[in-house]
This record gives sequence, structure tokens and C-alpha cells, in this order.
Amino acid sequence: MLRIYNSMTKKKEEFKPVEEGKVRIYTCGPTVYSNAHVGNFSAFLMADLLVRYLNYKGFQVKWIMNITDVGHLTDDNELSDSGEDKMEAASKRENKTVWEIARYYEDLFMKDMRTLKILPAFKYPRATEHIQEMIEMVKVLEAKGVVYETSDGIYFDISKFPKYGNLSGNTLDALQAGARVEVNEDKRSAFDFAVWKKLVGKNEAHIMKWDSPWGTGFPGWHLECSAMSKKYLGETLDFHTGGEDNKFPHHESEIAQSETANGKKFVNYWMHKSRVVVNSEKMSKSLGNFFTVKDLVNKGFTPEAIRFIFLSAHYRSKLNFTEEQLTESQKTIDKFNDFIQAVLKAEVKNIEDGISAIVDTARKQFEDGMDDDLNISMALASLFGFVKTVRKKADSGEMSEKGRGEALAFLKSIDEIFMVFNFVEKKEKEFSEDVQKVINDLVEQRNKFRTEKNWAEADRIRDELLKMGVNIADKK
Ligand SMILES: [Zn+2]
Repeated sequence: MLRIYNSMTKKKEEFKPVEEGKVRIYTCGPTVYSNAHVGNFSAFLMADLLVRYLNYKGFQVKWIMNITDVGHLTDDNELSDSGEDKMEAASKRENKTVWEIARYYEDLFMKDMRTLKILPAFKYPRATEHIQEMIEMVKVLEAKGVVYETSDGIYFDISKFPKYGNLSGNTLDALQAGARVEVNEDKRSAFDFAVWKKLVGKNEAHIMKWDSPWGTGFPGWHLECSAMSKKYLGETLDFHTGGEDNKFPHHESEIAQSETANGKKFVNYWMHKSRVVVNSEKMSKSLGNFFTVKDLVNKGFTPEAIRFIFLSAHYRSKLNFTEEQLTESQKTIDKFNDFIQAVLKAEVKNIEDGISAIVDTARKQFEDGMDDDLNISMALASLFGFVKTVRKKADSGEMSEKGRGEALAFLKSIDEIFMVFNFVEKKEKEFSEDVQKVINDLVEQRNKFRTEKNWAEADRIRDELLKMGVNIADKK
């Protein structure tokens, strides 16, 4: 039984799908106007973990992630230093059309998604290809009397949706109490959000534009997720995921639009990924602690280590992302891979090794952990215990062929979720007799240095051997 912490109710709830055996998940995707940093991918990796674990449990998952390729303005709470549409700012900066910018950064994003082995979504709908669906939704909202027209756009009147603020705590009362914002000309409330923007004032020259019953313009940011989730997943979603930063105003506004337009509950379980920090600071270009997936791979970190650093911390805990942590992440993966090699190479006997029972216990603990709001620490603890016990059997020759198969099959099934282990047996290199003699001599010299406690010389020889492709492991 899977229990998930629902950000709406603020408690762990038992997961019950809308439709038996099937799960519909919607994730707010990237805005494609610049390079995404690794922190941006943490929310997608959380969704990937959820999707893969649901697959593991036998659910049929339909996952949709949108691509925001319409520019946003500061009004939409997307901060841009210049107050300019981000897509258009990028277009000027890089001397490309806004359409080229959108496709270019979408391609880069998809490449990073593949590098991080994030499961492909069922579809990645683009906002620019669903303008008609958005216009239809505004018409419904208009017919229901919850939106109103001003000189520069169509706004949702949040006082008409009493549940506004239930997700984030930003109710209209709370917003007004803490308000320091200017009251916009003819908006009824400063906190009403745009569902459609007209080409007037500072938006006059907006490049991406479409015809609508309210004149030429472009949709509000929140609207795209309401319209596209409905088109591909229906009116009630099982899960809606995103970064913590998306909670307000984005998700709050999606709920207001969707529930008013459809007259149904929009989302059964809300999941939000806690923010990633670097030494307690937000990851950002201006602070110089901004890493892209490509930067890190070029520095020699493996995609697996990057993937695992995000998966191995609970999604609701604040992750401190550092290169040291990344190295630790790699070490953990190496330990698992080392174990796999030991099992692959173990000398097996025809004995009763008890591995079946060990696998059963570990699998149960792993699932108990994951079922408890994807409690990854508990799930990993079960695997570390499993590795320790089975390793002893592999090293001491207390393993059967059947036990080996079961141990590997178990880890492989877990790796359908983690995607970081390597199950290919490493073959040992064969040397000619002459080379073998040189190696033996070096090993002997090294042993001599070791008995003399001349560690510097012993290490020098070990490095020399490593260059020849010989790895020395000192055992008891
Ligand atoms: Zn969204």
C-alpha cells in the first residue's frame, strides 16, 4: 500500500487511483529560454522516481510533462531582471527568433533528460500548440462569470474561488495582509491573475501572438497546464508534481481555473520537490554556483552519480548539492557495482545458501520504505544490509548458482527504478608471459616496501601497475 504526502492536505495519504490499475501524472515542465541547471532536474527526477516505482508496483502510468515555450512576463511571477519577456530577451541576446530559441533549448533539455535516464513521458505537449484549448477554457470561465476584462487582458477574479490559497496558504486575506504591491489600474485585486494578455502597453510588441475573442494576444502561464492536463489526462488527475517554487502562484491558479471550468476536483495528490541549495544558497547563475548536466559530465562526474545524488535524498528534504556530495554518490554506486562483480565472479557450490529468504526480507523492507512516501533512506538501508550479508557468502564460497541468480535478479528489478548499477561482468585482462613476469616482480617489490612500511614507494608501484591495467586490492 503506497502512502504519499499530499501537499494539499499536508498529511500522508493512502494512494487510490481514479481508475483501477492506472495512474495519471502531470508534471510542470521547463520554460525553454535558457540552459537548465541540475537543480531544475531534481523535480523531474522526483517524478521519475514516482513513475518508475508505480511501474514496479504494476500500475499502468500515463505521464505528461508540458513544455512552456510561450514567454512570460514579470506579472506572471516569473522574475526577470529586465522585466522583459524571457523568450524575447533570449532571442535578442542570442540573435535567434523566439521560435528558434524555444526549439533549441527544448532540444538541450531533452538531451539532459536522456543523459539522466529520466523515463520518457507519454507526451511533452508544447504550450504554443495548444492555444485553441486554452481559449476554449477561458470561454468557459467567462461563461461562469469568474473572469473579467480589463484594458490589458482577461483576469481571473480569485475572490470568486473561495478555495484559493488552500495549497500554499496564500489566501486572498493573507495576500492582502502582506501586500506591498501596487494596485494595477483596472484590476479588481492586485492578486487576480491573467488568463489572456492583450497586445497593449509594454506587451504591444510581444512576438508570439494569436487571435482570440478578446483580440490578438497570448495566454497566461497558468492556463497552459490547466488546458493541457485536461486534454491528455482528463479532468481529475491522480498526481500533479512540480518544484516547491511552483506552488504559488502557479499551482494555486491552475486549481482555480481547472476546478471552476470543469466543476470537478482537479488533483487527488499534490507532490512538491524541495528546493536544491548549494551551501545553503539557491542555485543561480548570478551566485556562480550554477551547474548544468553537461558541465558536470565534462568535469568527469557520471550521469549515474548525478542521478543518484537526487534520488538518494528524500524529495521533501532540502538537498545540499556539492561536488563532494557528488563524489560520495559515486562511491555508493561503486560499492554496489563492486558487489555485483563479486557475485558474478563468485565460485558457486551446490548448497542451500539461504539467499532466497535474504532476498525476500530485503525486498519487503525496500517496498515498505518506498511505500512510506518514497522513503528512500529506509529503502536503501535494506539494500546495504542485503549487500553485506550476500557479499560474505560470495567471498567465502557459500553461494549456489540459484542464489547468485536470485541476488542479481533482485538488484536488477531495483535498478529498473534507480538506473545506476552495472551488471556487465568485467573480464580480466590477459598478459603475455614477459609482461606477467614484470607484473609479478613489481608486486613482489611492493610487498617488500609494505613490510618496510615504505608507503610512498608502495603507492608509487601501485600507480605504475594501475597504468598497466593492473588493479591491486590488499585483503586480510
Ligand atoms: Zn504547470
